[in-house]
Amino acid sequence: MSHLEMHQFICRSDNYGLLVHDHQSGATASIDAPDAAAIERELKARGWQLTHIFNTHHHADHVEGNLALRQQFGCQIIGPKEEADRIPGIRKQVAGGEAFTWAGREVKVYACPGHTKGHIAYHISSEFSLFAADTLFSLGCGRVFEGTLEEMFQSVSQLKKLSPSTYIYCGHEYTEANAKFALTVEPGNMALQQRAGIVTKLRQEGKMTCPTTIAEELKTNPFLRTDSPEIRRILKMENASDAEIFAELRRRKDNFK
Ligand SMILES: [Zn+2]
Repeated sequence: MSHLEMHQFICRSDNYGLLVHDHQSGATASIDAPDAAAIERELKARGWQLTHIFNTHHHADHVEGNLALRQQFGCQIIGPKEEADRIPGIRKQVAGGEAFTWAGREVKVYACPGHTKGHIAYHISSEFSLFAADTLFSLGCGRVFEGTLEEMFQSVSQLKKLSPSTYIYCGHEYTEANAKFALTVEPGNMALQQRAGIVTKLRQEGKMTCPTTIAEELKTNPFLRTDSPEIRRILKMENASDAEIFAELRRRKDNFK
């Protein structure tokens, strides 16, 4: 079985569009639908027909293209059961802990409450690919709008356990801003310093910084590094729990700059 082809692009202002294509069957999934026109253009350029949309959560910048794309391609829309009433055109509802088959591969669904109540992530382990949307970003994590900080901590922490070689596809290109914050809470982290330098250069060249990997994030993302002595010292929370460190990091990031 040949590997799936991933085609990633930026749309709207900082949303990631992502098309997942199976050359064997021709099946093509769009991870979320931030911008129907941009997605259609990218499909056309490759001669691909959209067969599915995998929605991760109900925010407009992730579902806005659903109906136009369904009308154009008759694609099936898969999305979170808990937010089904807010996912336009949803046909198949999935929940954390479930799995389904797509293009002959198992797709596992992870419940990731926090950013929204029903946010889910999709994982295709045979492709080492995680579609994390607005739960886990490169060098950061999503804002907690609907769930609790504790829920978000659990959501992010479960993803940490995936194979280190897993590619993480994110919902937004936020890495440069995330790097600036990360350096304030762990300035002595050499891997982070190095990554921040690479990210600045990539952005200057107009290039994307994602996908990242679990291995890279474990070394550099403060939200996955709540056990770091330096972070704990800077927060003056040496004896706090990991969940407390995570919550304090998220609060500080909310107020950063
Ligand atoms: Zn969102």
